[in-house]
Amino acid sequence: MALGRSRVNAGSREHLRGVLNGRIGSGEVKGVSELDRLVELQGLDTRLDQLRYKGEHLPVRAELDQLHREVDQLVGERDEVAGTRTDLLTRQKRIEDEVALLDDKIGRENDRMYSGTITSPKELSAIQDELESLGRRKDHLEEKILDLMEALEPVSSRLAEMETRLADARAEAGRLEARVTTEQAEIDAEAAEVGSQRDSLAAEIPPELLERYTRARAGRRDGVALARLIGSTCGACGLSLPTMFVEEVRHSSGDELFVCEECGVLLAP
Ligand SMILES: [Zn+2]
Repeated sequence: MALGRSRVNAGSREHLRGVLNGRIGSGEVKGVSELDRLVELQGLDTRLDQLRYKGEHLPVRAELDQLHREVDQLVGERDEVAGTRTDLLTRQKRIEDEVALLDDKIGRENDRMYSGTITSPKELSAIQDELESLGRRKDHLEEKILDLMEALEPVSSRLAEMETRLADARAEAGRLEARVTTEQAEIDAEAAEVGSQRDSLAAEIPPELLERYTRARAGRRDGVALARLIGSTCGACGLSLPTMFVEEVRHSSGDELFVCEECGVLLAP
């Protein structure tokens, strides 16, 4: 409440064209029963809001989000290790191809040397030199292949480990997803039940009053449009209301609605 505002202004009234009175009859308590229905409707709407919130904030949902982040991170790490492994294998393959070419060449030189067509000692000696050189080159390449194979071993086991961890995390995510589905289904079932109660009840409330309530609810973050008086205070914000005003709310003839000026809720006795 704004400083210096008169307590008399703590509440205001709103004429509702005799809507509440208009419904009097068939043994209903004058006016009050319409507001009672509205209070009940507010209770059901609040329950529906709570169920919606509960569904959106299921702890298992947060757990699942966290796990999805972990899975994303594992995928990133796995891809990196897989990339390193592919790189090592590519290098190994390239050297093996080179060794295969050398083998061909060594074979050809050997064939030439033992073909009997070359008789010049000088030429034979040149082939022998070439074969030795090719052999050294081959030894060097095979050494490199062994080095690569050695480097590959820990990378491959790391990759297998990552794949296992990833599979486990994905399986766990699957279990959590199933739990989300189950828990949400329970909430949905309750919401459907409350929703149908709400719809039947709303059908019994005069349209003008319902519309006034709906408008008030739409303008409020907490969805509370209607509150009962608690003693002489507003049931929504706790503001202490002037005695005269409280008496008026309590003994409403039914053609007026009362509004808490502090928080704007409609007041029911
Ligand atoms: Zn209030």
